[in-house]
Amino acid sequence: MTNAPLRYRAALLQTRPRPLEHLKVLRVNTTRNCWMQCRFCDFSRYAPLSGPRPVPPAVGRAALKSELGRGNRYDLIKIRGGLTFWEPWSYFLQLVRVLAEGSSAAVQAFSAVELMHFHRVEKKPLREMLEELRWAGATSLGPGGGELLVDSLREELAVHRIRSQEWVTVQRLAMEAGLQSRAMMMVFRGITRDLVQEHLLALGPLRDLSVIEIKPLRPQGTHMENAQPPHLLEMLAVVQAIQDLWPQVQIAVSADSVSPDALSILHQHGVSMAYFNAEEIGP
Ligand code: SF4
Repeated sequence: MTNAPLRYRAALLQTRPRPLEHLKVLRVNTTRNCWMQCRFCDFSRYAPLSGPRPVPPAVGRAALKSELGRGNRYDLIKIRGGLTFWEPWSYFLQLVRVLAEGSSAAVQAFSAVELMHFHRVEKKPLREMLEELRWAGATSLGPGGGELLVDSLREELAVHRIRSQEWVTVQRLAMEAGLQSRAMMMVFRGITRDLVQEHLLALGPLRDLSVIEIKPLRPQGTHMENAQPPHLLEMLAVVQAIQDLWPQVQIAVSADSVSPDALSILHQHGVSMAYFNAEEIGP
C-alpha cells in the first residue's frame, strides 16, 4: 500500500517522453540535379551526362568559408545533393574537410546511395572511400533522401536506386570505418504495416544504429505531384513500430516537414530529435 504512489510515479516516468532535442542544421546542397530520377525527389531533374556543363557548378569553397566565417553555431551540417558526373570525389572530400575544420558541428556527409554512385564513377573500393570521408572530418553518413528498404517499391519509384541489401552493406561498412550509422524512413499516405515492418527488419544488421529519421513524403515539385502527404496517424503508427523493434534508437524528424502541433504530438509519442534548418547554401 505504501509503495503504491512510488509505483505510480515510476509508471508515469516510464511513459514520460524524453525531452525533445532541437538541432540547428546547416544544409549544404551540392547540386539540385540528379540523373537517378527517383520519383519522390524534387532534385530529380535530368542532368545530361555529356556535352557542355548542363547544370550550375556545385557549391564552391568560397561560399562555405563565407558562411562559416559568419560565426553562426550549428549542431549538425548535412551535406546532400543530387548526382552528376562533373565533380570528382576529391572535390567532395575537400568540401567535407572545409566544413569540418571550420565548425564544431557534427558533419553528416552523403548517403549510401551517393557513396555507391561515387564508388562506381571513381572505381575506388568503398572501404577506402569511407575511410577517406571519416579522415576528412565526416561523423556519419546521411540516412538518404527518402529511403524505404522494400525492393518492390524501389523498383517502382526509384528504379536506379541501389537495392536494400546494398544500402545496408554500405551503412555497415561505414560503421566499420568509424562513421555513425543513421537510417531514414519515408512515410507516405497509404503506407502499410507490412511495408513498415519490412523496412525495419531490413535494418537488422546495423546493430549500432543510433538514429532513424522519419520523413513525410512531400510531393510538390516531384514526379508524384498527385500523391498525398501522410496523415499524422500514419506517422504515429511508424513511430510506434520503430519503438517496438528498435527501442534504443532515437527517432528524429525535420521540423520543417511537419506543423508545430504535429511535432508536439510526435514528441509525446516518441520522437526525441527535431532538426531545424537554420541555413541552406548551395545552388
Ligand atoms: S533521392 Fe537522391 S538519388 Fe534519388 S533523385 Fe533525389 S538526390 Fe538523386
